[in-house]
Amino acid sequence: MTLPTGPTEGPLADALSQLAATVAHLGYDDGMHKMLATARRELQVSIPLRRDDGTVTVYHGYRVQHNFSRGPAKGGLRYAPYVDLDEVRALAMWMTWKCALVDVPYGGAKGGVAIDPRTHSLGELERVTRRYTSEISPIIGPEVDIPAPDFGTNEQTMAWMMDTYSAIQGHTVQGVVTGKPVSLGGSLGRATATSRGVVHITLLAMTAHGLEPERSTAAVQGFGKVGRDAARFLTEAGVTVQAVSDVDGAIYSRDGLDITHLAAHVDRTGSVIGFEGSEAIEPGELLTLDVDVLIPAAIEGVLTGANAAKVRARIVVEGANGPTTKEADAILIDRGVIIVPDILANAGGVIVSYFEWVQAHQAIQWSEREVNERLEERMTKAWHDVVDYARANHLTYRAAATALAVRRVTESHRLRGLYP
Ligand code: NAD
Repeated sequence: MTLPTGPTEGPLADALSQLAATVAHLGYDDGMHKMLATARRELQVSIPLRRDDGTVTVYHGYRVQHNFSRGPAKGGLRYAPYVDLDEVRALAMWMTWKCALVDVPYGGAKGGVAIDPRTHSLGELERVTRRYTSEISPIIGPEVDIPAPDFGTNEQTMAWMMDTYSAIQGHTVQGVVTGKPVSLGGSLGRATATSRGVVHITLLAMTAHGLEPERSTAAVQGFGKVGRDAARFLTEAGVTVQAVSDVDGAIYSRDGLDITHLAAHVDRTGSVIGFEGSEAIEPGELLTLDVDVLIPAAIEGVLTGANAAKVRARIVVEGANGPTTKEADAILIDRGVIIVPDILANAGGVIVSYFEWVQAHQAIQWSEREVNERLEERMTKAWHDVVDYARANHLTYRAAATALAVRRVTESHRLRGLYP
């Protein structure tokens, strides 16, 4: 029997290679391997946009639903110029494993539109979002597939999606997306949930590997929805954040960056560049600084076969999805660098998205304290599940996390059986 094949490099190659290793570890047959490697449903749409100057451009959008075995599909919507179907497939597969690992009753999905949001007006982004939502509306819904913000999108994008979907249905459907503004049924604590989870897991990993926050340093790549608050929470925990970056460049301060003032600088200028008291460094240099903890929180594939040997951090915590290529993964493992995988480290977002969906279904609102406590409880449990499984089976954290997740998905699949 032929095994699942795919591209030889890029996020889908990385995701398929992680799955292949897990299937080998769990001893599953080729049929199960194929089932796990294949998305249940994929939709590709074109999105014609009338630009503000009157011209028309056509963009491509995707929604991939990787798996429904444990519940409705769930996953973010990404706006980035390089988005393609294979990237969305990989991200959808990782969502399946992430939801299973933290035990929320969802399968995995992901969406993307190949557009650079930075070169479009708010009105253009609204028109693109509404057209994309209307094109994918037959396959989304609170019991089917629930999008959320991701790279390049935000709570405003979710508000437009909810409104468009509601207009099509003829009534307000709050549960169709998560990550909405709080005034539209969003959850308190959702905006910071991914970052809070990243830092919670980082602190657990630091303790487990003998690092004290007050004596430790960190570098964070990406200063968006995940990176910015991750840097802030790290600082609040006593860690010295020496470097951060965004798409425009990277900055460094040996004594640590003042993240509150930096956030105000970014709000004012649109970039981390030029922050008072910091020095500019090469963006690639951030990944190889002599820090204790490195948190890539921007895009996938940044730790590669070319730079992994130069990484000096003791612990890499994957705030972004898929930041470590399979070549880099092997090199880092060989060098004894601890990698806390994305499906564990950045699961805080989907956990609080689940809380938001539950609150929408019950028409109640939990307090922010309640949300944060429940988030911490779930992240802590997932961390211990992964550490225990890794120890018992002599696996890396990534291999253990993926094995636990794939096992849960497979169990649901086996219980449900094949139709017909
Ligand atoms: P975002 O759009 O809010 O921010 C992205 C940040 O990365 C920006 O600061 C941008 O300037 C920066 N960036 C882009 N390209 C870069 C590059 N080449 N080098 C350095 N910085 C670069 O996106 P986000 O929501 O923070 O998502 C970041 C990552 O986290 C993505 O991989 C996403 O899939 C993942 N993630 C996000 C969430 C969430 O809740 N938002 C949840 C889980 C995982």
